[in-house]
Amino acid sequence: MKITIIGTGYVGLVTGACLAELGNDVFCLDVDQRKIDILNNGEIPIHEPGLEEVVARNRAAGRIRFSTDVEASVAHGDIQFIAVGTPPDEDGSADLQYVLAAARNIGKYMTGFKVIVDKSTVPVGTADRVSVAVQEELAARAATATFSVVSNPEFLKEGAAVEDFMRPDRIVIGCDATPQGEKARDMMKKLYTPFNRNRERTYWMDVRSAEFTKYAANAMLATRISFMNELANLADHVGADIEAVRHGIGSDPRIGHSFLYAGCGYGGSCFPKDVQALERTAQDYGLNLLILQAVEEVNARQKQILGAKIMQRFDNQIVGKHFAIWGLAFKPNTDDMRAASSRVLIGELLRNGATVAVYDPVSMEEAKRVFELDFYDAPELLASIRYAENPMDALNGADALAIVTEWKAFRSPDFDQVKQRLKQAVIFDGRNLFEPAVMTELGIEYHGIGRSVLT
Ligand code: NAD
Repeated sequence: MKITIIGTGYVGLVTGACLAELGNDVFCLDVDQRKIDILNNGEIPIHEPGLEEVVARNRAAGRIRFSTDVEASVAHGDIQFIAVGTPPDEDGSADLQYVLAAARNIGKYMTGFKVIVDKSTVPVGTADRVSVAVQEELAARAATATFSVVSNPEFLKEGAAVEDFMRPDRIVIGCDATPQGEKARDMMKKLYTPFNRNRERTYWMDVRSAEFTKYAANAMLATRISFMNELANLADHVGADIEAVRHGIGSDPRIGHSFLYAGCGYGGSCFPKDVQALERTAQDYGLNLLILQAVEEVNARQKQILGAKIMQRFDNQIVGKHFAIWGLAFKPNTDDMRAASSRVLIGELLRNGATVAVYDPVSMEEAKRVFELDFYDAPELLASIRYAENPMDALNGADALAIVTEWKAFRSPDFDQVKQRLKQAVIFDGRNLFEPAVMTELGIEYHGIGRSVLT
């Protein structure tokens, strides 16, 4: 099938590459010339396991191309996926300017029937606004082409995006009940047939329910994390081990094991903004989502937990102290540092007079860019960040190690070396990678999240 993907970011590039892999003829559009140039040079602008190979293979086979040519992109795809960003506006609502600009471009150039798919995460009711934007452009040039707006939210996870897209748990598609909606449904069904070979994974619903489903999923996951973080903080006070508790409750099939890990807070481009956007939507209807307000508050506090534990351990005196930081990305297998907990911790340490040596397997370049923004008001602090060559190099002469991202490479370090390189054998583990008892045996002072078991 002929597919256009509007927006070549994490979601758009993965969607385009995977649909090309299945034999579709894909046109990827972006307004960012730099990104398109990188892609046309055979490189990938993001770190995503397996993506480079899929893109290269399909580019070579002529099944995927990259361009900034809007008119050609509209002419190409019978199905037009909108996969542009929906960042938070100042009031926390989703900023729809990019989605609506993409919709207007389609309306400006379309000549025949188009299925317009909202792949971006958009608030309930956005499909109607997309429809109006397209209609207005058609009316402005007295054109009569027909279209249908479909909601097909994306559930892929950064770091496992290709795998998630190719083997989805579920595909959610919302179509309306008009004749155009029926036609759109048939085309979407055909497009997604290869994903449903072993079992039916598609959940068909109305457009608004599909839009809502994406927010409900992210809000539920964020809630589980904040819930466990709050319990972990209590566990620290009462002398219980949150990891034991996690196993104890996760084995109940009504609860399950996923997303019960206590830690130093969630980040990334989705959970923080989607929780906020859902709260904003509720406020538009005069409702307050009390649970989600608490989820956000708990998370904001949790991102400060490592800083607070460090300050407490060093009697609020960290001027001149030096800390090793393992992990900068908001989670493993990605270089994405949007809303990452590392930024809160490093800000806290530097602004209180400490220096840091940081290491992340893939986010070092992104970190340099991000810290310039974070310390725009105090650029002299940038000199207090050393970018280490490897995890062990980061430890040299540090007063303690803080772990922020649960990269596999950090799970089984040579603890003898860790102890030798650190000035003091102290670890603040924001992801509970190690066992407190093992650390004690090794002579390492260990501070996990919710792991202060009384012995
Ligand atoms: P991104 O910022 O990585 O990419 C968006 C791209 O859209 C950018 O390259 C930008 O230049 C381009 N763009 C903006 N306006 C455009 C226009 N008018 N025409 C063409 N291109 C345009 O964003 P992302 O992380 O891929 O997220 C996209 C959407 O998918 C968001 O709504 C997000 O919430 C949702 N989502 C993201 C993830 C994730 O893990 N990143 C997962 C599921 C859903």
